[in-house]
Amino acid sequence: MVSRVIPVDPFDLVIFGATGDLARRKILPGLFRRFCSGQMPEEARIIGAARSEMDDDAFRQMVADAVREFGGGQACEDGTLDSFLQHVGYEHVDAMGDDGWKGLRARLRPGLVRAFYFSVAPSLFGALAERLRSFKLADDDSRVVVEKPFGHDLASAKALNATLAQHFHETQIYRIDHYLGKETVQNLMAVRFGNMLFEPLWNAQYVDHIQITVAETVDVSGRGSYYDKSGAMRDMVQNHLMQLLCLIAMEPPARFEPDSVRDEKLKVIRALDPVDYHHIVRGQYGADASQPGYRVHVEDERSTTESFVALKCHISNWRWAGTPFYLRTGKKLKARASEIAVVFKDAPHSIFGPDAGTHRNVLAIRLQPNEGMTLDVTIKEPGPGGMRLKDVALDMSFAEALGADAEDVPDAYERLIMDVIRGNQTLFMRGDEVEAAWNWTDPIIAGWNRRGEVPKPYEPGSSGPEDALMLMHRDGRRWRDIRA
Ligand code: NAP
Repeated sequence: MVSRVIPVDPFDLVIFGATGDLARRKILPGLFRRFCSGQMPEEARIIGAARSEMDDDAFRQMVADAVREFGGGQACEDGTLDSFLQHVGYEHVDAMGDDGWKGLRARLRPGLVRAFYFSVAPSLFGALAERLRSFKLADDDSRVVVEKPFGHDLASAKALNATLAQHFHETQIYRIDHYLGKETVQNLMAVRFGNMLFEPLWNAQYVDHIQITVAETVDVSGRGSYYDKSGAMRDMVQNHLMQLLCLIAMEPPARFEPDSVRDEKLKVIRALDPVDYHHIVRGQYGADASQPGYRVHVEDERSTTESFVALKCHISNWRWAGTPFYLRTGKKLKARASEIAVVFKDAPHSIFGPDAGTHRNVLAIRLQPNEGMTLDVTIKEPGPGGMRLKDVALDMSFAEALGADAEDVPDAYERLIMDVIRGNQTLFMRGDEVEAAWNWTDPIIAGWNRRGEVPKPYEPGSSGPEDALMLMHRDGRRWRDIRA
């Protein structure tokens, strides 16, 4: 099935940091795919900006290389790439100086949607925002897109919000968390609020616990110097896992509109209890015979930064009081797999007697790989010989169910950039959400530092440290297997 594509309004999109890794791997190939889908109007312009000196043609060559390397598919070869490149230009601009700003302004056209993507280090956000105003490139209708990390802690996030707020209204600021752009994450809301089936059971009375796992197989080599100052808590939990937790736990918003959704997410974060330090496990991958450990990938050979976190938390509100939420994420684990699993309680009484065993319904929402959902239901084992029960999964891959090629499903970045052009902030984090999330994670990190806690080592290719398994075993529960 070919999905319906509604073209967006004509726009000028300036990408600061257009020569960088994120622009080359995600933003530019994503824009090309939207162009191929017919979503980008003829008048759309994409202007790369960075300090490197190059002309339009040199930048177009860089864009063509990036698109070929990071996902243009067949369309690159049939002339579509050349057409796309006609929409692309470049201006050399220094965020910290006055070079290039007038030239950039001359490229912008009046009366169109105007968006500025800050794909640069956060230390440049303030300088960019200030110059966009002082050189009169941005007005009160312009949009700015800012990348993570959004601060390092509550104080720095507040400072960053305050800096941006000097130049832009909250309604102009799009803080990207690309997890929110994933098809499955939005499907989570469709499943919860578009069906009658689940929502009545979606509470502490029927849900035993919820597990959220974001497991990666990659190590931190190549980004060790950034990662070592951050760690899994700041890099993954404070933003991505927190957003997933919010969407799974929030009350139904009155409407699928930016502030209705974001108000509900904020209430979840504010209702989170502080985490007992006995309920958190930090890990760091070690070496094995064939591969180096974490400390080889970072400068500090005695680093105590965590590459893995597992924790149990509680949301103190009427819906969830007493239901634990278990979160885990890590690098160098056994598979690249992310899922949210809602584990329902046992039936209150088994009419099949003790031999039938215990069976549980589990709704698992897979974010990657192969986005989809499974619902474990209990049925009778086929054949004679009495009533033996067995759990089977109703398994739905979204791509298969919708008849779409994986390539047809827009990548998170593509979708989010198009939302910026449309002016839809629903899938972007509001400033107060980001601050509330830091407010919850800061004491956890401060506690580790105060106690001088050292992460538990774990084997590369494993499920994380033994203590993370124990975190659930102690409660008579177990993690679901991490499977690709
Ligand atoms: P990067 O590869 O280091 O690129 C940085 C870009 O900024 C380059 O284009 C650089 O070009 C430009 N730049 C540096 N100083 C500048 C200045 N004074 N004026 C104008 N441009 C300047 O970084 P990245 O990995 O693309 O990351 C960009 C942002 O996205 C960061 O905030 C990062 O945390 C975030 N992010 C990245 C990823 C990822 O996968 N890479 C994922 C999530 C978030 P010149 O040197 O030519 O100026």
